[in-house]
Amino acid sequence: MRWRRELIALTGVTVFISALFGANSRAQEKGNATAKKIAIRAGRLIDGKSDTPILNALIVIEGDKIVSVSAGGTPPAGAEVIDLSKATVLPGFADVHTHVLLNGDITAADYDEQILKQSTPYRAILAARNARIALDNGFTSIRDVETEGAMYADVDVKTAIARGEVPGPRMQVATRAMAPTGMYPLLGYSWELKVPVGVQTVDGVEGARKAVREQVMYGADWIKYYSDRRYHFEDDGVLHSMVNFTDEEAKAIVEETHRLGKKVAAHCIGSDGIAAALRAGVDTIEHGDGFTDALLDEAAKKGVYWVPTITVGAYVAPGRGGNWVKMVDLEKIAFQKALKKNVKIALGTDAGGFDWKQLNEAEEFVYYANYGMTPMQAIRAGTVVPAELLGWSDRVGTVEAGKWADIVAVSGDPLKDITELKRVKFVMKAGTVYKNEVH
Ligand SMILES: [Zn+2]
Repeated sequence: MRWRRELIALTGVTVFISALFGANSRAQEKGNATAKKIAIRAGRLIDGKSDTPILNALIVIEGDKIVSVSAGGTPPAGAEVIDLSKATVLPGFADVHTHVLLNGDITAADYDEQILKQSTPYRAILAARNARIALDNGFTSIRDVETEGAMYADVDVKTAIARGEVPGPRMQVATRAMAPTGMYPLLGYSWELKVPVGVQTVDGVEGARKAVREQVMYGADWIKYYSDRRYHFEDDGVLHSMVNFTDEEAKAIVEETHRLGKKVAAHCIGSDGIAAALRAGVDTIEHGDGFTDALLDEAAKKGVYWVPTITVGAYVAPGRGGNWVKMVDLEKIAFQKALKKNVKIALGTDAGGFDWKQLNEAEEFVYYANYGMTPMQAIRAGTVVPAELLGWSDRVGTVEAGKWADIVAVSGDPLKDITELKRVKFVMKAGTVYKNEVH
């Protein structure tokens, strides 16, 4: 039905092709002269730039973009007015560490169950549901950092959302991720069984370069690799780990990825894994529990982002026991040091590492505030900073003229009570309202 309507309204081969493949139909509709005008009255606007909120702000939106933001003012003629005058309005949130194709893996059994008993189509259906949950919670952008055995299904989820087929956040995706032979589950099964692996198995410098090319060919925006495993404390009190790739292999991954114009995320929990990833030249450190002073200094100096994923660490610790509990405390100390050293911290939760239905990703904001960020710093860690990490600073992360209209609202004041961010009542993405429970 949709493409037939477009064929009637417009002519030409280009239009036919884009309609056939469903590309940007919404953008085309909105990009024309009759783009819908919306004016939002915001009681309190935290725009992501200013240190203090703007009171009684007026945000004017045309189509999918913000065209003006002012303190007070009159809505333009013909604009639909959305009254959020009793609410706090913010930029849409971003979570730069998610797994839409996973639904909680506290134990190895939880993980194996999903990989062995669920088909990729089934998992992709749940991924679409998870994307909707993220959007409902105010997350209008996510970076999904590997499919855990579901191959390139993240590219499909991203495409379906971008085409307006299903609701969800804007996505950047990492596809399959990489680890060397024997360094990633599923492990421990009889050698007679051929069991799936949660990542692409990659060995050697040439293997690394080829795997990067392959993943980029099928749609990876990021390359993710597993820098370490076997986390353990030694007498020095530092969290150590076994490094997965040789330096030559890790450098080959990073070099090839950068050569193709993409960026690298490295899973590292122990200090040895973090050190190896920084040596290789990665763009983001994921988890980072074992950050030492020297490694934090190096990350700050190199401008490498830290994505701490505190929510998942705290969530899985009781179920996993042992060092995992100590790692939560260790990461809190590292986080506080990182703040003093001006390491760039971008909000990431590892949603999917916990069940999407059980925890709201906005929990991560609460940890940041509890760990020493001001509420405004925490908000920026989940809006402006991830926008930079994603390379989307010109599009998202703040509420200002020229940006995509990705806007959320909460009833109370998150600068007084950060947990307000867990109760998002209004969500707009690209000028379309997906949720409005503001009364
Ligand atoms: Zn993860």
